[in-house]
Amino acid sequence: MSLSPALRAALRAFTENERILVLTDFDGVLSDLIDNPHDSRMREGSRVALTALSQLPLTEVGIVTGRPLADILEVGMPPQDVLVVASHGLEFLQTSPGDDIYRPTARDTEILDALKAFLTPLAEAVPGAWLEIKPAGIAVQTRLCESQAGIQLLAIVHELPEHLASLTIRGGKDVLEFSVSSATKGTALTFLAELKQTGNILFMGDDVTDEDAFAALPPTGIGIKVGPGETLATHRIADTTEVTKVLELMVALRTPDEPVA
Ligand SMILES: [Mg+2]
Repeated sequence: MSLSPALRAALRAFTENERILVLTDFDGVLSDLIDNPHDSRMREGSRVALTALSQLPLTEVGIVTGRPLADILEVGMPPQDVLVVASHGLEFLQTSPGDDIYRPTARDTEILDALKAFLTPLAEAVPGAWLEIKPAGIAVQTRLCESQAGIQLLAIVHELPEHLASLTIRGGKDVLEFSVSSATKGTALTFLAELKQTGNILFMGDDVTDEDAFAALPPTGIGIKVGPGETLATHRIADTTEVTKVLELMVALRTPDEPVA
């Protein structure tokens, strides 16, 4: 499929702005969703286009992900000049060097230990389920579970006991994440907009937590939802191959003398 005329027109208008900020989720957008998240890699076409875009003048590019920063550096190997905002806005790379990794306070560690003690036996009882330990929280992953068992597990863990009630809960596809931080991808988007001094922001995302970023887009922004599901984004594309097309089109539109396919 080629991109819709409405999206092509929106991208044309967007790239005519002097300064632009292009932000994208990682899993399910730059990379295909696969069973083992440690094996996921950026699609080659998207990597090439993202890198080209980041090297153009007045064109800032960033990856905004729920994954921990260490994790995304391992699987994403983001090109130089590409900003990375990880852990839903809690960790930043290339924004304030030396202060980009989140370190939990003693109180956070106490709560996270209690959370782990609560979740571990529940997850161990369900074949296929596993806990993803993050700097500020724990995600219960169920995408390898038998469907009904996964849904049941997430329903059970959603009912946190009283001593864990202060945690922020984030839902996604086959995942529920508990965090000591209430930062969202919307927080990240707003921070980057201020840092880069622009409201000309494009954001692409595929999951429920990306809706916080779509909601935080200024009127001059463009939201692109990847795949099915309810969304606040004004545009929708089918899959990660169309993400590559969006990135490639923006590179062509912002490069003088480049023919636009
Ligand atoms: Mg995603």
